[in-house]
Amino acid sequence: MAAPLRIIVFGKQGSGKGTLATRLSERFAIPHVSTGDMLRDAKASGTEFGKKVGAIMDAGQLVPDDVMEDVVRDRLAEPDAAAGFILDGYPRTDGQAAFLDDLLAPEGISVAVELQVGDPVVLDRITKRRTCMKCKTIYALGRDDSATSGTCAECGGKVVQREDDTEEAVKIRLERYQEQTEPMIEYFAGRGLLERVSGEGDPDEIAAGVVTLIEARRG
Ligand code: AMP
Repeated sequence: MAAPLRIIVFGKQGSGKGTLATRLSERFAIPHVSTGDMLRDAKASGTEFGKKVGAIMDAGQLVPDDVMEDVVRDRLAEPDAAAGFILDGYPRTDGQAAFLDDLLAPEGISVAVELQVGDPVVLDRITKRRTCMKCKTIYALGRDDSATSGTCAECGGKVVQREDDTEEAVKIRLERYQEQTEPMIEYFAGRGLLERVSGEGDPDEIAAGVVTLIEARRG
């Protein structure tokens, strides 16, 4: 069996990493594992766990590392992740990166991709972003009819603004990214695992460029 293809996608919220992860998931037939989506699903389910993490998310804060460890360990142990996965939203702190290293030893991750986008672009994108509650497809106000109509063109689900996509929460998340995630990305760069790519362009072209980089690494 070929080595598992374990990809991490890094980028500020609104950098397009969710869209890229979806494209890579289709191209390589491995699951898109988004910790943000998993936590939002937990919140929507209304369980005690969901209420607890929901309050943290709405405030734009990070869920504690020990809580995330259980979420990620369980998800990556599922059979569909045996051939690989696209991890989106994890790791976000040094502690999470160290946990992931232990969890994935000895092969470790295959490649980390950072989508680079400036803060003003991110703020504009996120405050216009609307998300299907059912299939998670992302739409933009002023670009997609589904964002205005509130009905998903893919699955008919309800298209809404995420509760943490307000300007205030986004600014907190950008600060956290700079403080915690950027230094952590350097850790992957130092191990020769990082590809930095501009996220300011056509999503299809960006995805095609990333696929080429990944295939070149796989040899
Ligand atoms: P995202 O969709 O990746 O922007 O995640 C939305 C929210 O979920 C974040 O603002 C955090 O509150 C929480 N979250 C997602 N992934 C993580 C993580 N790896 N560590 C801590 N909190 C997370």
